Amino acid sequence: MEDSPIISIEKLKKHYPVKGTSLFSKPVLLKAVDGVDLTIEQGEIMGLVGESGCGKSTLCRLALRLEEPTKGSVLFEGKDLSLYSQKELRLARRSMQMIFQDPYSSLSPRKTAGAIIEEPLIIYGLGDRKSRAAQVKELMKEVGLDPDQANRYPHEFSGGERQRIGIARALALKPQFVVADEPVSALDVSIQAQIVNLLLDLQERFGLTYLFVSHDLNVVEAVSDHIAVMYLGKMMEVVGKRDFEVSARHPYTEALLTAAPVAAPGGRPVKSVLEGEIPSAVAPPSGCVFRTRCPYAESVCAEEVPVLRQIRPNHKIACHLR
Ligand code: SF4
Repeated sequence: MEDSPIISIEKLKKHYPVKGTSLFSKPVLLKAVDGVDLTIEQGEIMGLVGESGCGKSTLCRLALRLEEPTKGSVLFEGKDLSLYSQKELRLARRSMQMIFQDPYSSLSPRKTAGAIIEEPLIIYGLGDRKSRAAQVKELMKEVGLDPDQANRYPHEFSGGERQRIGIARALALKPQFVVADEPVSALDVSIQAQIVNLLLDLQERFGLTYLFVSHDLNVVEAVSDHIAVMYLGKMMEVVGKRDFEVSARHPYTEALLTAAPVAAPGGRPVKSVLEGEIPSAVAPPSGCVFRTRCPYAESVCAEEVPVLRQIRPNHKIACHLR
């Protein structure tokens, strides 16, 4: 693994104006992503975990510049994506692809598997019909699909096979950086491990860099080199995978670890200590956004926003007390 960042996210914010609760109230801001810093090195798998509504998917779209940030920047190979010309951005997008959560809705039902996988090649004007057909067959083989099924439609495939079509489409342009947004959460548990193993295999063979997103800590732990923990639009902790369970120290990470069920006897307890709902991103708590659910909260937690700080190599944390 080389050690130069492919993606550097700096003080990134995405605030959406939404209607107030009454007819005459002013619009308020929904702080989906609120000052996030994250660096992803070439060839690594950065796992991103957090409950639904914590801003993970918005961060994914911002990382690929599918949305404009309210503030802050995303650097791709050291260059701010906002400074790219349209032509440069189009070229950069070849190197940055996304695998979507839902293999049912992310594939056009009117196109064959082959046409879906070929589409990015056509959009970028790559190859002629014959060479594209050969590439589609090759891609289908790479992801474990039978190339003879290129003329079938998505509904003729199983859920796992449909996700393989989505992965083949994402790989068609030979990207460097792939955002996998909950790539296995819509699949049966029995299929999840197959898709995770496929993604790991492809990462190794093609030297890909992943931002791998899941609400399931066990899945993220299984695949990642580093694990980033997000809560209510903010980064709580970023820690190396090695010894994650003993190193992770943020109270929110601790709660996620306790909540994550494990099969092994003597493993982590199954009961969750994480009580209550995640607060609204329209009116997040003052100070530390986790304080309303944190069993360790003190008065300082309501007054000051904890900054994400390095506490040792490969470990950053945003907490006043840890
Ligand atoms: Fe809990 Fe305070 Fe740390 Fe936030 S800053 S996680 S409220 S102890």
